[in-house]
Amino acid sequence: MRTVTVVGASLAGLYAARELRAQGFDGHLVIVGEEPHPPYDRPPLSKDFLTGRVGEESPALYDVEETRELDAEWLLGVRARGLDTRNRTVLLEDGRAVRGDGVVIATGARARRLPGPHLMGVHTLRTLDDARDLRADLLRGPQRVVVIGGGFIGAETASSCVALGHDVTVVEAAPLPLLPQLGHELAAVCAELQRRGGARLLTGVGVANLLGTPRTDSDAPGSGHPRVTGVALADGRTLPADIVVVGIGAVPNTGWLSGSATAVRDGVLCDDGCVTALPQIVAVGDVARVGGSRAEHWTSATAQPRVAVRNLLAGRTVERADPLPYFWSDQYGSRIQFAGRRREGDRVRIVEGLPQDGRFLACYERDGATTAVLALDMPRPFTKIRRELARAEAPVPALSPLPALGAVGGS
Ligand code: FAD
Repeated sequence: MRTVTVVGASLAGLYAARELRAQGFDGHLVIVGEEPHPPYDRPPLSKDFLTGRVGEESPALYDVEETRELDAEWLLGVRARGLDTRNRTVLLEDGRAVRGDGVVIATGARARRLPGPHLMGVHTLRTLDDARDLRADLLRGPQRVVVIGGGFIGAETASSCVALGHDVTVVEAAPLPLLPQLGHELAAVCAELQRRGGARLLTGVGVANLLGTPRTDSDAPGSGHPRVTGVALADGRTLPADIVVVGIGAVPNTGWLSGSATAVRDGVLCDDGCVTALPQIVAVGDVARVGGSRAEHWTSATAQPRVAVRNLLAGRTVERADPLPYFWSDQYGSRIQFAGRRREGDRVRIVEGLPQDGRFLACYERDGATTAVLALDMPRPFTKIRRELARAEAPVPALSPLPALGAVGGS
């Protein structure tokens, strides 16, 4: 391989570029990124960056020294608009084309939005620019903030808004936030964390629409958009709001693959080694559906590139990339950590501490074996069990064929 193009200049893309060099690729490395910023880390955006505990320098993932070491051609601020799979050519929105021998797809995901016209004061939180905009709005003084969606991003944002002194309501359509990830028992504990932390949590009620009035204030010059004034709930209630944060999940960025021969179904379809139907094209991070599932976690985005690059350079799948799922979330002064593969019906056993004391370790169990572990502010015992779970499913050489390929092209 003489040229490899990495599309997506964020966490998974940067890790893929590092792996290419670490694994001996000494050819031309091109990194294409839609955002104008060099790679930065997203987890601080909903946490310490929003509260102002850390500044702009904190989310950076990359320094000048590494720029030299990677010896890559960076094409930032330009979006890939197409992929000619036969020639491994990435077509850019500005008309350029990057022809290569291998392509790493690392275009991540974008925040899902609510339908309807844009209103000032309504935010999503995915990018550094989103976080800057939301922070600027929050700094206008104490306000009524409604967070739509009680998942991790919603809960962390709500927690940061409470810390900044705002009046915060979280609206969650499901009976409990994080129900699919944690199951009823422990999702209820995390919901309690939000309530005790100072947010008003409304569950089991959806949002009908957002309310807005034409702007009369002058706090955002240049905008003719109306400003949000409230959230109408599906049960007829109305929540007054000065700021609304929409945290209802993310959508994989596959639109640019539309019309290409890359198979897409809620993510880029790959085998369990991150390899698409073409061995010269691999996918990593939030955009990749690896062996049938798509993770949206930091650890997957940093673990998959090593295996993806190995398989890319080998020209076939020689190793699987199916790390034990792990995520963490910092909210209301506590750290939640989860690892493993919980399934519906797993039994929950509190192993240490007590949920009502705000510190505990719980195991999910099935047929006498631990399937997953969750901890609230118990990092050490958590890490021990996480390691044991990972050891129990140590990597095996890849043998399985590609999953059946579905729709072709992106959405
Ligand atoms: P992304 O980070 O989404 O990066 C994809 C990049 O590709 C973007 O820069 C995008 O602009 C670019 N791109 C998209 N389309 C194109 C195109 N057509 N052409 C060129 N470039 C393109 N995970 C945890 O485990 N714990 C946490 O506490 C946690 N906190 C988070 C907090 C926030 C606010 C967010 C948003 C995420 C958080 N995550 C957390 C998730 C974690 O950050 C993601 O899993 C990770 O960022 C995924 O990396 P990625 O490189 O695959 O995708």
